Amino acid sequence: MRVVVTGGAGFIGSAVCRHFILDLGYDVVVVDKMTYAGNLASLAPVASSSRYAFERHDICDASAMAAIFAKYRPDAVVHLAAESHVDRSISGSDVFVKTNVLGTFTLLETARTYVASRRKGAGPDFRFIHVSTDEVYGSLGKEGLFTETTPYDPSSPYSATKAASDHLAKAWQRTYGLPVIVSNCSNNYGPYHFPEKLIPLIILNALERKPLPVYGDGSNVRDWLYVEDHARALGVILAKGHPGETYNIGGRNERKNIDVVRQICSWMDRLRPVNSSHHEHICFVTDRPGHDHRYAIDATKLETDLGWRAHETFETGIEKTVRWYLENAHWWQPLRDGVYGGERLGLVKA
Ligand code: NAD
Repeated sequence: MRVVVTGGAGFIGSAVCRHFILDLGYDVVVVDKMTYAGNLASLAPVASSSRYAFERHDICDASAMAAIFAKYRPDAVVHLAAESHVDRSISGSDVFVKTNVLGTFTLLETARTYVASRRKGAGPDFRFIHVSTDEVYGSLGKEGLFTETTPYDPSSPYSATKAASDHLAKAWQRTYGLPVIVSNCSNNYGPYHFPEKLIPLIILNALERKPLPVYGDGSNVRDWLYVEDHARALGVILAKGHPGETYNIGGRNERKNIDVVRQICSWMDRLRPVNSSHHEHICFVTDRPGHDHRYAIDATKLETDLGWRAHETFETGIEKTVRWYLENAHWWQPLRDGVYGGERLGLVKA
């Protein structure tokens, strides 16, 4: 199996590459533009493998995408390349529309042309896995879960562009017969997470004895999935999923943001004790504009039809994550010093 992984130098993409190469023995071609979020250090565990190749390109570049498909003749694409941070989409939506919508369109068209040329040679079944988010479904109240049939209702420029790309992917399956599968996953966390996102930001701020900012009153709920569980889910969907289907991915780990932050503080108190408790540095800051209140995934279809289950609970996953950041300063320190130092993003100016 030879798989093109777009966005393979990002947080989830690099976990997918490590899983595919080291656990499944697949050949992987990473296609990545290397934005601020791309980091080759996240691919260090596979960089010397003969199964790994890297191509630095923008997915919006149609001729580069065609050349990559012609060069590698992949059996599948797992499409993760995207602008992924909601706060950045509030301050600058332009690149989100370009990469998430036009980039996905370019890749779908490239794959369509490629599959048409492959069919003449009667190759094995091609698969296009379009990796998306539960944020396309909008916000839940206190009750209920997102299923694969929940209507789309995105709130942020990020989730609106992901919703648009999901619609394109499904249309290319229905109209052109491109064997597309869409996955919608809940919030990921774990090693190699860029420190602009809540969990790594709080760990690193705690380590540096800085304020621990919580948006609004901290009551917003997210459904957390350990990133390696997501990578395994994508492996299962690639191997056993059915074209035209959508699979929701989630680990049944709903937590309020404030409880996530408190749990990190408790681990930091245990692993890096200082004079005062880390809990004392929690502060409440202006809420994110359009902040969805609650996300929660019903992953029954993926569990029942394809036999996937999350291995980590939030309790086991968050301990692993805190320990990983404490032991891997060589990975995050250059990002913290030179790429993003922890300043507030995504406030709308009057
Ligand atoms: P990330 O921001 O860590 O990584 C994105 C990667 O895409 C980076 O390596 C970046 O360099 C690359 N990229 C960006 N624009 C590109 C372009 N034009 N051409 C080629 N490469 C480009 O993101 P992530 O958190 O790993 O998310 C990966 C995918 O999973 C995204 O599609 C995201 O919407 C989806 N997703 C993320 C989460 C989550 O919690 N992080 C949850 C569900 C779904």
